[in-house]
Amino acid sequence: MKRKEEDLSQLRRVEVTSNREISPGVHYLSYKRTREFIPGQVIKVSLSANNPPRIYSICSGTSDPEISILFNIKEGGLLTPELARVKPGDTILVSAPYGGFISSGEAEWWISTGTGIAPFYSMLRSGLGKNCCLIHGVRQGSQFYFQEEIRAILGEQYLTCCSGEEIPGSFFGRVTDWLSTREDIPAGIKYYLCGKALMVVDVRDLLIEKGVPFENITSEIYF
Ligand SMILES: Cc1cc2nc3c(=O)[nH]c(=O)nc-3n(C[C@H](O)[C@H](O)[C@H](O)COP(=O)(O)OP(=O)(O)OC[C@H]3O[C@@H](n4cnc5c(N)ncnc54)[C@H](O)[C@@H]3O)c2cc1C
Repeated sequence: MKRKEEDLSQLRRVEVTSNREISPGVHYLSYKRTREFIPGQVIKVSLSANNPPRIYSICSGTSDPEISILFNIKEGGLLTPELARVKPGDTILVSAPYGGFISSGEAEWWISTGTGIAPFYSMLRSGLGKNCCLIHGVRQGSQFYFQEEIRAILGEQYLTCCSGEEIPGSFFGRVTDWLSTREDIPAGIKYYLCGKALMVVDVRDLLIEKGVPFENITSEIYF
């Protein structure tokens, strides 16, 4: 007899194993991994069946025992203020991993702002990206999440931009300011952009202006 196919869009209850504030207003929440995923994929998260779920990039590696997400608390938001109060042992609703923000495995440039670092951290922790260049833009130096681990893997291919304060070793300004100064943007490789819509649109336009074909740009927009 044919086995009934599992409905992957269905939310199921999982027990949270940790929920740490890793930077002011930014949380790293984990639960035990029982499913496979491809780095770059997302999950839907909710606290109750009555509320619409929100989407989060998986921010852990494929061999890690837990699936983790990185989120910032949106004041007045439906989910994140409450999600930040969840304690180990509490349950949340999650979907199966899904989505197509998947690395080609070739040399790529990864460009992110804020919590948009999540899919790239997942890729790096899963052994991908050693030939990639990762650019991370934030407002405050405390928001360079996982920077030591990332630097240990990528070395000089990891570039940080801080727009709100001068940090030694980081470019002072936005990711778009840094890109504008560059004359050496390679046109023939793939670009992966992740973060808020405004950043993604501005970076996309800049890359196109500098000769990168539109079809070489893939984006994941956090809206
Ligand atoms: C593909 C994808 C991946 C994502 N991955 C991540 C991730 O890894 N990490 C992450 O932090 N986020 C991610 N996001 C964003 C995330 O899904 C949520 O949108 C975000 O966490 C806010 O959820 P919330 O329910 O707390 O806030 P919401 O209820 O969505 O509110 C967001 C903001 O809008 C304001 N607001 C709400 N309703 C109104 C209204 N009617 N008028 C005016 N203002 C209003 C709220 O006050 C709040 O400040 C992702 C989004 C997408 C689409």
